[in-house]
Amino acid sequence: MTPTPDRGPDRGPDRGLDRRLDQAAELCRARGQSLTPLRRRVLEIVLEADRPLGAYDVLEILAEERGRVAPPTVYRSLDFLLDQGLVHKVLSVNGFVACSDTARPHAAELFICRHCGNAVEVARKAADPRLEETAAGLDFAIESVVLEVRGRCADCRADA
Ligand SMILES: [Zn+2]
Ligand SMILES: [Zn+2]
Repeated sequence: MTPTPDRGPDRGPDRGLDRRLDQAAELCRARGQSLTPLRRRVLEIVLEADRPLGAYDVLEILAEERGRVAPPTVYRSLDFLLDQGLVHKVLSVNGFVACSDTARPHAAELFICRHCGNAVEVARKAADPRLEETAAGLDFAIESVVLEVRGRCADCRADA
């Protein structure tokens, strides 16, 4: 049986997608940046996915829509979205997920089902005081924190 990933909060069916894209565009504009049509479409692709997408996955979807797409343009778009905090990088699978709360920088906790690949992000409002303490002890300035938690989602446990 093919596992069907469940949808995370805010991930569809398409309701709210345009609103989130408009919010992202507004956020960029407020920072003097521009969410170009390509960047917007790349963000949309990542938003629509239930699981972390690699640059190659995005490239394939774009290529289907508009023919050959130069890989560097997709990498640059993903880097831009990353810099703006609109997506998070999931190092363990070398992919990207849309940020669930772009209003301010935060430490992200990603709960990734190792069975179906579904990923849900929880944005932590407050930094972990223990982490801050450790960083201070190392005289280390934290720029971003992404915690990747792996396990099995409720659906996959029910299917077992
Ligand atoms: Zn986030
Ligand atoms: Zn699962």
